[in-house]
Parts: sequence; structure tokens; C-alpha cells
Amino acid sequence: QKAMNCLYHGSPTSPQPHFVLVPFLAQGHIIPIVDLSHILVDQGAFVTFVTTPLNASRIRHYIECARELQLPIRFVTLPINCSEVGLPEGSENLDTLTAGLKQFDAFLEACLQLRDPLISYLKEHGPPPNCVISDLCQPWTGDVARTFGIPRFSFVGFSAFSHLCRHIINSKNIYDKVTDDHQPVPLPGFPHPLEIPKTQSPLNFSISAGGVRYMIREEEPKVQGVIVNTFEEMEPLYVECFEKAIQKKVWTLGPMGLYNRNTKKPDTRGDKASIDIERCMNWLDGMQDQSVIFVSFGSLARIMPLQLIEIGLGLEASKKSFIWVMKSGPHNTEFEQWLIEERFEERTKDRGLIIRVWAPQSAILSHNAIGGFMTHCGWNSVIESISSGVPMITWPHFAEQFLNEILVVDILKIGVRIGVTSSVTWGSEKRDEVMVKRDDVERKVLELINEEGEGMKKRVKARELGTMAKKAMEEGGSSYQNIKLLIQEIQQQIPLVEVERANGLESLKVQN
Ligand code: UDP
Repeated sequence: QKAMNCLYHGSPTSPQPHFVLVPFLAQGHIIPIVDLSHILVDQGAFVTFVTTPLNASRIRHYIECARELQLPIRFVTLPINCSEVGLPEGSENLDTLTAGLKQFDAFLEACLQLRDPLISYLKEHGPPPNCVISDLCQPWTGDVARTFGIPRFSFVGFSAFSHLCRHIINSKNIYDKVTDDHQPVPLPGFPHPLEIPKTQSPLNFSISAGGVRYMIREEEPKVQGVIVNTFEEMEPLYVECFEKAIQKKVWTLGPMGLYNRNTKKPDTRGDKASIDIERCMNWLDGMQDQSVIFVSFGSLARIMPLQLIEIGLGLEASKKSFIWVMKSGPHNTEFEQWLIEERFEERTKDRGLIIRVWAPQSAILSHNAIGGFMTHCGWNSVIESISSGVPMITWPHFAEQFLNEILVVDILKIGVRIGVTSSVTWGSEKRDEVMVKRDDVERKVLELINEEGEGMKKRVKARELGTMAKKAMEEGGSSYQNIKLLIQEIQQQIPLVEVERANGLESLKVQN
């Protein structure tokens, strides 16, 4: 018997459209869905947010905040039996997978366990759902939508540019006959010439892969539309071409993290920050505007000790101020030792702040003192940087991060490449590999945090985009309008019997 726990049950005043949100179980996927749930309820919807106990505990601040504000969101936590798929107990989030990619398929399998309990839960607990918005990596949610005869929209944290690339790569199987993973391969039908080597392309959910990956490819064309955390003005060509390619509406609803940014508590989007936010903001207050480089590589990338040392020495040599976020774990105990032996933190104490584990990233990025972001190019990080008008030093690791780098550097012209050319296999990082030398770290930091030349041009461009991003999310802006239209579209599809029931007219009508 699977336990189910409804942590908070809001009080919907129907006929609110009821959205069932099912993020994939990874921080980079959960955080934008947290933002989306906030947006939807604010615009009059009722939301069921589906996750597992561990992940619910990691967003407990958001759950508490929703409860305090009496938002019509209920959080449904469904357990996963990890041993059933050969994973260690507690493997409920991608970042808990110590072997990384090698455990990915088992993890996808584990998520399948949520399907039947969720269907039963929704049958037993009203209000009836009207729409499923779920991650591409949760293909079983297609069954949930079909059970209730409601539409499913997919969401995955990609830009429209990366979506379009991925669509072409997969639908045309462009790497089928390619033997050299480093050879650039043209993308046929892309709106301008573009070549991408296999090593820089995202994970391929090919039909031949079987299992849940097969299911992902099968379910993808069945969705009613695709939700993208971007804004139309930033990448109109790719939104249009992607829409044409998949022949479905592409809903640009972002940057979702900007919605009500000023009224939301800064630490309610993901894990609890491992630094006092006020302390962090006070530290930044003491720095000059646009003078600090923020260095962080998301929730999954693991940087090995020798590489960490190169980053540290490069940052120090640049003489610029920095905030550096590092994930702790067995991979960096040697590095912690190095920090102590070298008295690195003491040496850089006037201008360096190291945050271990989890930083309040979006709050940091929105501080005026931040002048640049050295990022792994996860889409959330990129869109958060753009939202704050901050230019980037791009250092992609895996997934679609190399595609995001092309968008940031070559198309939007708001970043400089650190210079890596091939991906790292997540979970199989080589301990002694150094991809980027300290001199390059220093050079790129100086290039970006510069009051003149290319660095300045990129900063100006990034600020312009930041202003456009904010406009898109404000009342009347393109993304804001799209949110309203999406809710309207779902409202129009609510069966009459439900609307009448909500209006207290059910007794007058025959229900089917
Ligand atoms: N994040 C954060 N603090 C951290 C690390 C990450 O707040 O110390 C957030 C970041 O703001 C972003 C998400 O976690 O919203 C990471 O998503 P992204 O797509 O950038 O990278 P991923 O973790 O999926 O590789």
C-alpha cells in the first residue's frame, strides 16, 4: 500500500481550472515548476503539485509559504520504491544519483511508479483535473491525462533555440552515419546555418533506446502544446520555427522566476540556502556595482579537485571580487584540504565569498554588485542571468548546455566562452582532468568584468535583454498575456457538467 500525503489542501472556489503539475525530480526541473505554480494560482487556477517526500522536504519553504498565504495549491507527495529498480533508498532526485548517467534509466523507471497512485488520488480527491503540465521526462503523465480526458502540456527547461535543435537532431537522426563525435554536423532545416558535433548535443531519447526513453519519444507528439521558460522577444525566430516544426502551440511563459520576484521570499524556490541571505546581501552591498563575478555550476555538475584548484587560482589572479558556489561531497574533500593548507579563503577574504552546497542564486544575480556569471549554462541559470541583465562566461558540461552556450555567445551576444569543446559524462568525471587552466579563468574574468571593450558591450546588451525580460512578465507583457491565454484555453475546455456543478446547478442537469 503506497502512502499518500496531502500536505496542504487549499479551498478552490470552482470553476477554477485545475492544473496538475508534475515536474521531473531534479532541482533544475522542480524550481521552474514551483514558479509556474505560483503564476497559475495567482491568475486564478487551482494547482495540484505532485512530487515525492524527499523533494517535498526540499521545497518545504515554498510549501509553508503557500500555506501561510492560503494559496490554492495542494502538494501531493507519492513515495518511490527505489529498490524495485535497483537504486539505493532515497534516490528521489537526480542529484542523489552517485553514479550519475549510469543510473538515469533506472531513475526514469522509478518515476513510473507514480502513475497509478496519482490516478487513484485524483479520482478520490476532487476537484476534477482539467489539465496536466508535466516534464518531458515524466511520459507516464500522458496516461493520467487520457484517464481524465484532459490535455497534457509538456515542459522541459529548454530555450526555444535548444528545443528546435533537439527536435531536428532527433527527427532527422543527424548523427546516424557520423563516426567522429567531435565532427560538426549541420542541422538541416534550421533557420540559419548551424553545425553541432554529437559530443555537444543533448541526450538522445531515441526510439531504439527502448524503456522509458522510448515512451518519452512516443508521448512527445501527443501533447497539446509545449511550455517554454523563455520570452518571445528574445528568440522570436526559434519560437516560430519550433512551433512550425512540431505543429503545436509553443507557450512562452517566462522568465517564470521573474513573476512577482519582489514580493516573493528569495529562498522559497529550491533548497534552503546554506548561507544566511542577509549576510550574503550585506557582503554584496559592500562591493561596487557590477564588480563581482558569480561562479556556480548548477545542481548536478561535479567539478573535480584539480579543476577546482585552477578555478580558485584563476579567480585570485584576476584580483576581481567573487562569490563561488561549490557542491560538497566525496569528490571535493581533497579540495577542501587544499583550501585549508593554502589558506585560500584567508588570502582572498577581502573580495571572495565561498558558499558551500546551495546559494540563493537568483537573489545574488539580481544584486547590482554582480557584473558577470560564470555558469555551466543550465537553462534556468541562463534565464535567471538574463532576467537580471548579467552577462556570462559560459562553461557547459552536458545535456543541452552547449546549445545554450551558442544562444548566449553567438546569437544574443551576452557572453564569452571559457573554451571547453566537449561534454563531460555526468557521474563519470575524471578526477585528474583539468578542462580549463587558471590563466584562462583569469583572462575570461578580466574580459567580462571590464568597463570598456567587448565586456562593456556585452553588459549593455545583457541589461537591455533584462529590461525586455521584465516587460514580458509585467501586466500586458507577452508572457503575461500568454499565461492568461493558457488559462482561458483550459477554462474553455472544462466540460459543461463541471462548470454547472461548480455553480451549484448540478441538480438541474443529468450528469454523465
Ligand atoms: N540553484 C540555486 N543555488 C545553487 C545551485 C542552483 O539556487 O547553489 C538553482 C538555480 O538558481 C537554478 C537551478 O538551481 O534555478 C539550477 O538549474 P539549471 O538549469 O541552471 O542547472 P541544473 O542544476 O539543472 O544543471
